[in-house]
Amino acid sequence: MKKITIAIDGYSSTGKSTIAKQLAKALGYVYVDTGAMYRAITLYALKKGFIGSEHPDREKLLRDLNKIQLEFRFNPELGFSEMYLNSENVEKEIRTLEVSRYVSKIAVIEEVRHKLVQLQKEMGKNKGIVMDGRDIGTVVFPDAELKIFMTAAPDIRATRRYKELLSRGEDIAFDDVLKNVEERDYIDSNREFSPLKRAKDAIELDNSTMSPKEQFERIHRLASSIINQQ
Ligand code: C5P
Repeated sequence: MKKITIAIDGYSSTGKSTIAKQLAKALGYVYVDTGAMYRAITLYALKKGFIGSEHPDREKLLRDLNKIQLEFRFNPELGFSEMYLNSENVEKEIRTLEVSRYVSKIAVIEEVRHKLVQLQKEMGKNKGIVMDGRDIGTVVFPDAELKIFMTAAPDIRATRRYKELLSRGEDIAFDDVLKNVEERDYIDSNREFSPLKRAKDAIELDNSTMSPKEQFERIHRLASSIINQQ
């Protein structure tokens, strides 16, 4: 049976990665979390002191861009891949609210996007991939056989993210999480290069009132029916 490409895009904290991971596992496909790649570059910029009080120093980051090496390594114990930045496992560090605060400001930079989009295209060249992000169905894989665009009400998304951060031991306020989710969506949707938008041929899924199981079953059915037609 021929393998397909599955692109899952959508707003922050809509549960894209949970569904994408489950789907990849069920189909025996590779899962790629492209948000982790933008987050890793942001972490690099933070560690190097390239981010001042509000804005990243674009020139300094661009001078170092070739030195930033990103890699996903599969962790058999966890059953998924973890992000490595210059050979260091940064999976935990990239998920903090601090990284979330700056990542959309890094993701507007054209050269950063160019570097990451090339890597993502390369990862998906043999198909059999589920990739989630903001521009997968529009820019990275415009020919993907299945495109999903996930949405949910902002307060529901912030509640999900808040619980996730609390469970990781972060000491944060709900209002800060909500503000961050709304701010990222605004920047992501309004940036000049590859803004977050639904691809014309993407299926929109508002999961405000859907359980993760319902979402998975719906997307799995869609994927299976396309795969069976190949
Ligand atoms: O998916 P996640 O919330 O981890 O993504 C973090 C940020 O990375 C997004 O808010 C967005 O600014 C950026 N991003 C992007 N394009 C992608 C994936 C993520 O611009 N394909």
